Amino acid sequence: MARTLVQLAGIPVSELKGVGPAKAASLAELEIHSVLDLLTTYPRRYIDRTREARLADLGEGEEAMVLVTVESISMRRTRNRKVMVNATVTDGDRTMKVTFFNQPWRERQLAPGTSTILFGRIERFGNRLQMTNPIVDLIGDRTGRIIAVYPQSEKVRIMSWDLAKFMDEVLERAGEFAEPVPPHILHTHGLADRTTAFRGIHAPESMAEAESARRRLVFDELLRVQLALVRRKRLLEATSPGIAHDTTDTASLDRFVDGLPFPLTGAQRRVVDEILSDLARPTPMHRLLQGDVGAGKTVVAVATLLTAIAGGRQGALMAPTAVLAEQHWLGIRSLLEGFEVGAGEAQLFDTRPLAVELLTNRTGAAERKRLLGRLAAGEIDLLVGTHALIQEGVEFASLGAVVIDEQHRFGVEQRAALRSANADGTVPDVLVMTATPIPRTAAMTVYGDLDVSVLDELPPGRTPIVTEWVRTPSDTGELGTEADPGAEATMWARVRAEVDAGRQAYVVCPLIEESDKLEVASAEETFERLRTGELAGLSVGLLHGRVSPAEKEQTMDLFRSGSIHVLVATTVIEVGVDVPNATVMVILDADRFGIAQLHQLRGRVGRGAQQSWCYLVGSAITSDGEARLEALVRSTDGFELAEVDLDLRGEGTLMGQRQKGRNDLKLASLRRDRAWVERARQVAIEVLDDDPDLVDPAHLGLAAELDLFLGDDESSEYLLKS
Ligand code: ADP
Ligand code: MG
Repeated sequence: MARTLVQLAGIPVSELKGVGPAKAASLAELEIHSVLDLLTTYPRRYIDRTREARLADLGEGEEAMVLVTVESISMRRTRNRKVMVNATVTDGDRTMKVTFFNQPWRERQLAPGTSTILFGRIERFGNRLQMTNPIVDLIGDRTGRIIAVYPQSEKVRIMSWDLAKFMDEVLERAGEFAEPVPPHILHTHGLADRTTAFRGIHAPESMAEAESARRRLVFDELLRVQLALVRRKRLLEATSPGIAHDTTDTASLDRFVDGLPFPLTGAQRRVVDEILSDLARPTPMHRLLQGDVGAGKTVVAVATLLTAIAGGRQGALMAPTAVLAEQHWLGIRSLLEGFEVGAGEAQLFDTRPLAVELLTNRTGAAERKRLLGRLAAGEIDLLVGTHALIQEGVEFASLGAVVIDEQHRFGVEQRAALRSANADGTVPDVLVMTATPIPRTAAMTVYGDLDVSVLDELPPGRTPIVTEWVRTPSDTGELGTEADPGAEATMWARVRAEVDAGRQAYVVCPLIEESDKLEVASAEETFERLRTGELAGLSVGLLHGRVSPAEKEQTMDLFRSGSIHVLVATTVIEVGVDVPNATVMVILDADRFGIAQLHQLRGRVGRGAQQSWCYLVGSAITSDGEARLEALVRSTDGFELAEVDLDLRGEGTLMGQRQKGRNDLKLASLRRDRAWVERARQVAIEVLDDDPDLVDPAHLGLAAELDLFLGDDESSEYLLKS
């Protein structure tokens, strides 16, 4: 009888012969409880012993892997009190000296007589060979050409070879694995069967075999995630009654579009069409709009909301901060000025001006009360605001469409709250907008239960922003990028020249993630220094997280009107601030910011027809930091930058906010396995088209695994709610 993963999940590891109570306890510390947990603990890497070298053959500077036995080992302290462990090792013919710095435990680990694999760079001093801080892989008495190296834990005393030994027993006792994926799918995608895959990943005969095994198991992980996401999405569509907005009468929309001082871009047109067809459908829209900074998302948002309003419903727009909400409110009010709506059913032919109001936590109590009354009476057509929109007591008469700006700032529950049903049980349509594009395949996994629209075209007439990296000396001096003191002077001269020409600039202060307070202090210090130094004589303003709302508003007004030339600020200006007259962005300590954030900040300039500049001031202390700044200099395309970001950071951070799909992604990498994400999505769609509830006998195995890996936990529930 072939084994299913569900069965293996039900067998505790203590049932294995090699696992006694002590080992079982240690494994439990590593979250390995069942035989399935064990089986899905995958090798970190492999040692390909066919590529093992003999010491005698190695030349200076060569990277090599050698199998050696420790002859002697000792520890001492260097003059500057560093711990230094020295070992002499042999491969039978030759000996080599190995030195470890700051790794005192090596003395115990590499007791004389221990066999180990060392991987590192060979140094030759005359006839003597030496390696410093090599990678050490203890393989015990493992034999074979390819040796799997497992993540080991010295703390709980589970070594790679322990895991390998357990794995041998599991594989032997499990025998054949049941195959949950229909054979035609495996065939189409050239995938190995399960049994071959589990054997191949843990005990490959060749690297090619390990690779093919990995491919199959990656596919399994991704398929499960996609099946779950696609299924949830369809379930949501099938079970919550949406609103079929009337999109045939386009008078308001046409008037809005015709009234804009510019024609829509092709991308805006396409996305508005996508949204209109969602709105017309009786199932609730649940769409993500990705568009780079300045791509023109606001117009799309207003078109969406206006369509709902024209049909007699209300709209809501939620922004992450009060500053942003106010800006949206001001902008949208002027966009919708002069629009009228029907004044209620009783007065069919009467109209009143379309009412756009603002609700944030700055709204006074009396004003709030008045607003809520009008909202419940249907006298407010569009409510713009912050989290305040989803607080207790905010009742819409008939909410038709919701736009959420800058989604990454909102938790999923908050989105869910706005989607809660109207009194008549209908659920409003939701459009989530983000200016932090993430690569398509990542979006498919992280936001797989949303439809995705992309504004991939910037409005014409923008002059590309010139980005320069102003290198400053690094504290450590390690990764020596030449600092150029002249470049900083040139930068401040640029700021002054632009101000002289009637334009404005931003200076973003160093990011201090650890402490709000420190960040504010540093911003104040920067402000003082610049005001009396580099920017003396200019009108300089300061904005940070602890400035009072009234003062903040005043500063923003002064900046908007041009009375403030240079705005020194923390990242509070990251999103949404729109002052087209600003042409210079200076980001201090730019190496502390992530790619997405830098890109956002840069997007605050280049909003008009003028040439704009972005200066990234910083030193690259790490190679990642260097790669980030170089990417920013090279590209202004948010999607391209998102790819770089994913390459540099991996998916961990991306997935952070949406836990699920994550626990099961043990092997799959959203960057390395991009193509497989797409294939898995496609397969999931085909399978569910065919068999929506996964009740076909051919799919029962898949259904059981979905429950097993992604079943009843809060995350799948919140995905449903979202
Ligand atoms: P986003 O929110 O996507 O960053 P905005 O909606 O704030 O971008 O638009 C950025 C600027 O581009 C605004 O000043 C807006 O008026 C302008 N804009 C939007 N669409 C177009 C277009 N089709 N042609 C020209 N300018 C546009
Ligand atoms: Mg915007």
